[in-house]
Amino acid sequence: MTLKDPEAIHDVEGVGIHSVHRHDVVIIGAGLAGMRAAVEASGEFDVAVISKVFPTRSHSGGAQGGIAASLANEEEDHWEWHMFDTIKGSDYLGDQDAIEILVKEAPTVVREFEHFGCPFSRTPEGRIAQRKFGGHTKDFGKGGPVLRACYAVDRTGHALLHTLYEICIRNEVRFYSEFQAMSLIVRDGVCRGVVAWDIVNGGMHVFHAKTVMFGTGGYGKVFKITSNAMANTGDGLSLVLKAGLPLEDMEFVQFHPTGLYLQGILVSEAVRGEGGYLINGKGERFMEKYAPSKMELAPRDLVSRSIQTEINEGRGINGEAYVHVDIRHLGEEKIMKQLPQIHELAWKFMHIDCIKEPIPIQPTGHYSMGGIPTNIDGEVLFDGKNTPVKGFYAAGECACVSVHGGNRLGTNSLLEASLFGRRCGKSIIRFLRENRDWPELPADSAKGALDEVEWLLNTDGTEKVGEIRDDLQVLMTNKCGIFRDRATLEELTGDLKKLEERYENIKIDDKSEKFNSDLLEASELGHMIEFCELIVAGALSREESRGAHSRTDFPKRDDEKWLKHTLAWKKGEEIRFDYKPVTITRFQPQERKY
Ligand SMILES: Cc1cc2nc3c(=O)[nH]c(=O)nc-3n(C[C@H](O)[C@H](O)[C@H](O)COP(=O)(O)OP(=O)(O)OC[C@H]3O[C@@H](n4cnc5c(N)ncnc54)[C@H](O)[C@@H]3O)c2cc1C
Repeated sequence: MTLKDPEAIHDVEGVGIHSVHRHDVVIIGAGLAGMRAAVEASGEFDVAVISKVFPTRSHSGGAQGGIAASLANEEEDHWEWHMFDTIKGSDYLGDQDAIEILVKEAPTVVREFEHFGCPFSRTPEGRIAQRKFGGHTKDFGKGGPVLRACYAVDRTGHALLHTLYEICIRNEVRFYSEFQAMSLIVRDGVCRGVVAWDIVNGGMHVFHAKTVMFGTGGYGKVFKITSNAMANTGDGLSLVLKAGLPLEDMEFVQFHPTGLYLQGILVSEAVRGEGGYLINGKGERFMEKYAPSKMELAPRDLVSRSIQTEINEGRGINGEAYVHVDIRHLGEEKIMKQLPQIHELAWKFMHIDCIKEPIPIQPTGHYSMGGIPTNIDGEVLFDGKNTPVKGFYAAGECACVSVHGGNRLGTNSLLEASLFGRRCGKSIIRFLRENRDWPELPADSAKGALDEVEWLLNTDGTEKVGEIRDDLQVLMTNKCGIFRDRATLEELTGDLKKLEERYENIKIDDKSEKFNSDLLEASELGHMIEFCELIVAGALSREESRGAHSRTDFPKRDDEKWLKHTLAWKKGEEIRFDYKPVTITRFQPQERKY
């Protein structure tokens, strides 16, 4: 591979630094967040995007249902309605200044995608088609579901991601595909670059940057049943923790109501948006009991809890741990026109023809509401007083600007990743116009990453990475899933400590440097154990139920004590918490009923 400005600085015995690269902007992650920021900043500055998978294989490409915007293409809609729905959906934990930006700028962001050439589905008049989604309503929740999700059949993420990739290529964004970021260089409150491993050729590369942005996505892979891609191991979160920065609201994890039974693969909410029903083992449309006015289109936290309750109380299909989503009544023509991918997935993975049979589903680990704290300009914050780290930005699923609060509404994530990615790009431009100098690159920048690789290649223990990972996934699913309580979370805290000890005693078989997936999966596992400890500690300390965080021993929301964001740091064994207030502007917290 030819490198732009190869400049070897030093070689360490065993694994040395291969090269140092310099770019004004280094973005980790080629999903919607990363590439939307790259599109924005690349007109004026030298932008590089690093991704551990080929850019268009990022998980954003797997998104099915749609991207929210109150375009009102087919019926009345307003950004104020979208704002209210998002705040209520968040169980009042979302920051309302950020939510106002999200819903107000949404139509611009979607129309920009259209102008970039995104092949949206169309109304008969040629406008962008929109469909219904859970929690999106008319008239501040008083009316029924509204047509707000802009879509490209049931492959919306694919259409958006490929569109951005093409614009990035046109703008000469420099891609480092199949490079895995291993550490973040932050010193004295200034971000100075990242260190990444070249997956194909082996070798450690230092990226010296004036600005770094993280769009590293989610971490669904810590759960056994998940809708997420293999790459979704949340590396970015652990890199941030290791750099001494906090994570926000990690206890809030979304379980999507409808994953294919035992596979977890997503059956998009578009299935219910288009009119699908949920049916239990007694043949009942059970959502009547839980959300009489919104039924299957209640928000995800509520629908997932309802399904799990039916299963736990023995009303799964044949008493098993699944229920049905039934779309047979939509008819073949509509299914094949609007939901072709769902038809294909149900057939390929379960041998179910959803035109003729209902689909077996169970809730599946899906999305992380928490993450790297940022302000509305995408700047990463390092304390409860909202002090930014100079030159460091984040957006998308890895970040927490807190538009989703305790529970995200479907289609608000593609929107948030694109919109706050775009805002990061704009902030980066403003920053670089005023900060022309390179931050100093410390001589030991790569030390942490080099030590890690050296340890992983040489450690000679008895434990297997795959086995520890399986155990982690089962434990997190069983003990930190849809329902939580103190006893199980305390147990899990001990379980994670044991996994950490086992991790110290691993051995990887492949000792080579080229395409060593053993090495990289081991590194990912280390990250996952680390931030899972924060998810569990956060869940244990938050003694209330809010949004997707449902404590059976504290079933009520407690605004007096817990209407606040959690910030958590991890240093060695010690976890430290701080809290910051929720920004409330237009809508005061109310009881949440659907
Ligand atoms: C199956 C599925 C369907 C969904 N459907 C919808 C939907 O219809 N509507 C909606 O709004 N939301 C949906 N979501 C959620 C939404 O797709 C994601 O939250 C969003 O796309 C995340 O975008 P992102 O840019 O933050 O991250 P991603 O698209 O996940 O990209 C992460 C990037 O980070 C890179 N990366 C990570 N770690 C490293 C590392 N260590 N080194 C280098 N690179 C790294 C990866 O290579 C990748 O390029 C869905 C999610 C799933 C899983």
